Formats: sequence, C-alpha cells, structure tokens
Amino acid sequence: MSDCNELQNPIRQNGYQCPWSLHQSTSYIIYLGAILILFLQIFPSFGTLGRVLIILFFIITITFLIYYLLKLTFSDPTDPIVIDFKNTNDPGLREELENRSNRYCNFCKSPVSSIRSKHCMKCNRCTSIFDHHCKFVNNCVGEKNYVYFAKLIVAVEIFEVFLLSSGIAFIVRKRMYLEYQDIPIMISVLKSAIIVITNSYLIVLHIFLYKKRMTTYEYICLRIKNKSSIIPQLQNEENHFSISKDNSILD
Ligand SMILES: [Zn+2]
Ligand SMILES: [Zn+2]
Repeated sequence: MSDCNELQNPIRQNGYQCPWSLHQSTSYIIYLGAILILFLQIFPSFGTLGRVLIILFFIITITFLIYYLLKLTFSDPTDPIVIDFKNTNDPGLREELENRSNRYCNFCKSPVSSIRSKHCMKCNRCTSIFDHHCKFVNNCVGEKNYVYFAKLIVAVEIFEVFLLSSGIAFIVRKRMYLEYQDIPIMISVLKSAIIVITNSYLIVLHIFLYKKRMTTYEYICLRIKNKSSIIPQLQNEENHFSISKDNSILD
C-alpha cells in the first residue's frame, strides 16, 4: 500500500488511492457499526426462521453492495484520449489524437474526447462524460463507470431497506419492553430510514437525468444558468438541449 505522505498532487487512478475522503472513511465505519448491531443485538432476538431469513437476505444484499462498491471504487474513468496521449511517444499518434479532438485540458496537458470531458481537481485528471465526483467512493463517475454507480445506489437502497426492516421487526417484537441498550438499534433504524429516503431521491433523479440524456454536472450547470423553475423549462427545452454525434452538448 502506498504511503499517503509520499504522494504530491497524485493523479487518482481509483478510489482506494490515498488520500481517502472523510465521507468514504465515515461511511465504512457507519456500515461496520450497522452490521455489528444487526448480528450482536437484532439477530439473537429472533427464532430459527427469523435468523435464517436474516442470514439469507444479508448475504444476498451485501454481496451486491460490495461487488458494485468495489467495481466503482477500483474503476478508472479517465478520458481514453488522455490515457492514449500520455502513454505514447509516437509523434504520429499524438498528432492523430490532437486532430481527433477539438478540446484540450491544460491540467492534463492533453487533448480530451469532447466538451463533456471535465477535469476533476480532486482526482487531478479528466473523466469522459463527467457526471460527478462521488465523495463516498472517492472517485469520479463518468462514461466508463456510470453503470456501476447506478447499480450501486440500487444495491444500497435494497441493503438499507433490509436493515430498516430488521430493525423495525425487532422494535415491533419488543414493543413496550425496549431497554436502554436498544438505543443503538433505534439510531440504526433512524439512519437507515434517512438513507432510504435520500437515496430514493437520488435514484429518481438519475432516472430523470437518464431520460433527459444529461449528466449530473450538466443538470447542475443548467440549474445555475436558469436559477429557477428548472423542471418546466427542461420539458420545453428538449430540442434546445441536445447531444451531437461526438457527445458534445449543442446549447
Ligand atoms: Zn484534465
Ligand atoms: Zn474526481
């Protein structure tokens, strides 16, 4: 593992590269706590059938969650033209890459695929069809890894619904006999309820953006530009906001 202190202005290649973000570290601690509460407090209170169901749902939901979390965090969404340009010393190929693109990044010192490629200062590299920088995975989300992000937020939703259901089932079973030591379970239930609601909004937002063929970055830019009544305007602007053959935005 690389020493964080040795890295100066590193070009991030994946989300596990140092330094980790505060959101990333905190989310790992919170999930570890939630799993401990599930198996140390909630699990023992159930009978055989309840325990079997908890283990079954836990294995299924955590497997999807970890799989897409690792896929997204380890992914490298760097603009392919930047990778090719930096990895070659062939003057002919470099000229060809420059001719293929009409955009240039002064930070990467390289041509980029299109106007939809953006340079992330946190990752210090350009991402093709940049969507956003996700603090929870410490990585950019773009053309190459958006599908992992979309599946991850669905996996988080399913896992949190499972945790929420287990916690509520525990509270309902104990009813009036809740004790002082059950407070962590109630905090965990509250945490899951908040995540289920906010993550639902995120999923709906990304379904909306997918239908509009927009990235989160473009949506935010458009909101800033229009400042108010973004939804009605978007419905009227389908022809105004279109995508060209080379994926650049015609505005
Ligand atoms: Zn760049
Ligand atoms: Zn980034």
